[in-house]
Amino acid sequence: MCDLTNPIFTDANKAREHLEALYWPDGPACRHCGNADPARITKLAGKSTRPGVYKCNECAKPFSVTVGTAMERSKIPLNKWLLVMHLMMAGKKGISALQVHRMLGISYQTAWFMCHRLREGMRDMDHKATGGLGGTNKVVEVDEAYVGGKTKNRAFKEPNPKKAVLSLVERGGRVASFHIANVSYEMVRPLIVTNVNRASAIMSDESLVYPRVGHEFADHHTVCHSANEYARLGGYVHINTAENFYSILKRGITGIYHSVSEAHLHRYLAEFDFRYNNRSGLGVGDVERAAKAMKGLEGKRLTYHQPREAAHA
Ligand SMILES: [Zn+2]
Repeated sequence: MCDLTNPIFTDANKAREHLEALYWPDGPACRHCGNADPARITKLAGKSTRPGVYKCNECAKPFSVTVGTAMERSKIPLNKWLLVMHLMMAGKKGISALQVHRMLGISYQTAWFMCHRLREGMRDMDHKATGGLGGTNKVVEVDEAYVGGKTKNRAFKEPNPKKAVLSLVERGGRVASFHIANVSYEMVRPLIVTNVNRASAIMSDESLVYPRVGHEFADHHTVCHSANEYARLGGYVHINTAENFYSILKRGITGIYHSVSEAHLHRYLAEFDFRYNNRSGLGVGDVERAAKAMKGLEGKRLTYHQPREAAHA
């Protein structure tokens, strides 16, 4: 558990120094042109200058550690950004914008945008850069789930339809989840073949969409739930890992977030995937997980208009 009395959560200057150490382990680098020569960077000082502003002597532009990150031009002090990220990364289920609004004394709308900006930093961080999930002698479980669609407090409205999610879970490893419009071969095949190493063995449920794509991998087994065949081949054939991941996801979405709109589901999936991929069982502690998530905010500047775009794959 992180120590909430740490000054980085209460003091904006300490928070900025923490981010500088995280983003610039070798000293400041210009956010505009990449110049990292300490002799060509001047730290600006003086009564009229905010702390943490540098001037690049290559491109002549001023910069600070937050330029080009999701926190650029935010009026929220950096210690609050760090606190929300730590709260989001501690535990398995995350924190809602409503809780952030109450705990930090900021408006609900501001809390909501902060949470989405933090989630944006968690997208596309893991599986693609490392050659895909699975590999030789490894198993990747493929499963789909339906989330959202709670009818609570919606007596006079149409209930939100449930949204389909495809998750690819490497046994003992990482997960990659996607919001899909429907569970069809055309929808799932591209996601599976671009995210899973072909040398893997695939385990899926008995849905008819998987055998065709399963043939493209080293091995494919189908779990037949109806025949009460949970542990075929000495316990090898199952999709329990995927089902365990979905139980965390569903409890989180219904318990913390209550419902999730279609347009934002991919960001919640990024958050749950990120926590799972950086879980304590893989040797990642709360502090390290939050630091890695903060690193992801570099290059992820998100304006107020962007969160509304892009619903599903
Ligand atoms: Zn520069």
